[in-house]
Amino acid sequence: MAAKKKAAAGKKRVAKAKGKKPAAKKNGGVAATPDPKRVVAILSGLDAAYPDATCELKHENAFQLLVSTILSAQCTDVRVNQVTAELYKKYKKPQDFAYASPAELEQEIRPTGFFRNKTKSIMGASKQLVEKFGGAVPRTMEEILTLPGVARKTANVVLGTAYGIASGIVVDTHVIRLSQRLDLTRNTDPKKIEQDLMQVIPKDYWIKFSHQLIWHGRRVCFARKPKCAECNLESICYSKDKTV
Ligand code: SF4
Repeated sequence: MAAKKKAAAGKKRVAKAKGKKPAAKKNGGVAATPDPKRVVAILSGLDAAYPDATCELKHENAFQLLVSTILSAQCTDVRVNQVTAELYKKYKKPQDFAYASPAELEQEIRPTGFFRNKTKSIMGASKQLVEKFGGAVPRTMEEILTLPGVARKTANVVLGTAYGIASGIVVDTHVIRLSQRLDLTRNTDPKKIEQDLMQVIPKDYWIKFSHQLIWHGRRVCFARKPKCAECNLESICYSKDKTV
C-alpha cells in the first residue's frame, strides 16, 4: 500500500515537473503512448551513460552471432563467450555444425544449459542455411524466422548487430524489466512489448536502444535492488521498484 502511494506521488511529481498530467491508463491498464519529451529524456540519458553500448556476445560474423545468440538463452554472455572461444575453433561454418555429431556437440555446449534443444536448433538452423540460403545468414526478418530455433529476439540481435538492419527491438529479460520500470509499456508479453517500443522509440534508435537497456539492466537497474542512487534516469523514473 505504502509502495503504491509512493509510486503515485512520484508520478505526480514527474508530471508536475514536466507541466503535464500523468499518462492516463487505457485498455485495462495498458500504457497510453508515453510523453515524447520523456522518451527523448530517456534516450538522452542512455546515450550519456552508454554511448558505446553493443552486443556482448563475441563473434566475427553473422553466423557466429546467430549460434551465440541461440546459446545465450537462459545463460550469461560471459559463459557463452567461454564456450564459443573453443567451439568456433572447431566449427567454422554452417556446414561444420550441420553435419556434426549431435552427441559431441551436446557435450561441447553443455555448460550453456538446455544443451539438447540448443544442439537441435543450431544443427537445424545450420542445415537450413546450407540447403536454402547458400550458407549465408539471410538479411530479412521473414527469412531468418524460418530457421529452426530462431524467434524475433534472436532475429533482431543478428539483423541489428551483424547487419545494422533495424527490423525491430530486441526484447530480453532486461528490456522487459526496464521498459516496464520506465513505463514505456505496461504489457508483459514480449511481442506486445516490442510493438509498444517500436511505436515510441524512433527507428534510428532501435538497435542502440536495446543494447543500452541491456547494459543498464546489467550494470545499474538490477532485477533485485536496482542501484537507483547511481542511475542517471532516476529523476524521470517513477517505478515502484525504485530504491531511493
Ligand atoms: S531509477 Fe532505479 S528503477 Fe528507475 S531506471 Fe534507474 S535504476 Fe532502474
